Amino acid sequence: MTEPGTRSGFVSVVGRANVGKSTLVNLFVGEKITIVSPKPQTTRNTIRGVLTRGGAQAVFLDTPGLHRPRTKLGGYMVKCAVSALFESDVVLFMTEPRLRVPEEDANIIEKLRKTEAAVFLVINKVDTVAKPDLLKIIENYIKLRPFDEIFPVSALKADNTGALLDAIFKRLPDGPMYFPEDSVTDMPERTLAAEIIREKALSFLQEEIPHGIAVEILLMRGREGAGDGIVDIEASIYCEKDSHKPIIIGRGGETLKKIGAAARRDIEALLGSRIYLQLWVKVKKNWRDNDLLLKNFGYDPKEA
Ligand code: GDP
Ligand code: MG
Repeated sequence: MTEPGTRSGFVSVVGRANVGKSTLVNLFVGEKITIVSPKPQTTRNTIRGVLTRGGAQAVFLDTPGLHRPRTKLGGYMVKCAVSALFESDVVLFMTEPRLRVPEEDANIIEKLRKTEAAVFLVINKVDTVAKPDLLKIIENYIKLRPFDEIFPVSALKADNTGALLDAIFKRLPDGPMYFPEDSVTDMPERTLAAEIIREKALSFLQEEIPHGIAVEILLMRGREGAGDGIVDIEASIYCEKDSHKPIIIGRGGETLKKIGAAARRDIEALLGSRIYLQLWVKVKKNWRDNDLLLKNFGYDPKEA
């Protein structure tokens, strides 16, 4: 996946509910990306969008929230969001104009204390506030921590968002293209397909793989000349230990076959076309330490 001379990075968008995080991410990645969430479980997957520009790729993570969790899944999601923060290159702390800093914002900012990422203060919905107030608001936030950059924006009106995007891209380190440059529109489908395969695998493996698995879609392409639209999908299931591989494959390939058959049914329903699915099982030691993308696919909630 790595090509020389490319830059890439993860950009986490964090903030209270309703401040406009999704609006901003959608604006950045373009209208072509529709975010579908066919199952509640898939919401834990925080990847939302990819934007590739001039040899650099930003992967935006619209984090599920850093609020106080009420459920186990909520708790897990907060953990995911927090861990995403620590592996991001840029964190956009997003809020909306309030003269007094809400307690929840102060809590989120506290959680950002130890991140090594560049942290931007993004005050959204500036279309709803008077300029003098905006300055006071910014003053109140920068009392809480030093922000690397500050952007008052309106995600809805695309006001000052171009400058924000430029600043984000300037911060991206050298790194691989995580997604093919030309398949941005496929990304949610790819993500969901990976998530479906992962879920099927976990359901057949139960407790047997203690460190979880990750799934990467290697190829997802409509077959040329296939009248009624066959989509070829090739995916790798990654596990961490050599001893896990035969468990996932099963006797005579039985388990992998079951995973593939179940995943195929769901992915066909998702895409509305017939698919031809090929799965490989690979050992990739420490995939969790070096690849946030795979982490997002691979976390097992039981571990959280
Ligand atoms: P999230 O919960 O942080 O992801 O917030 P959403 O992106 O779902 O947005 C919440 C609401 O705020 C929606 O009704 C948006 O239309 C609205 N909103 C987002 N950005 C702006 C903005 O710049 N100005 C105004 N006035 N409303 C906005
Ligand atoms: Mg949202």
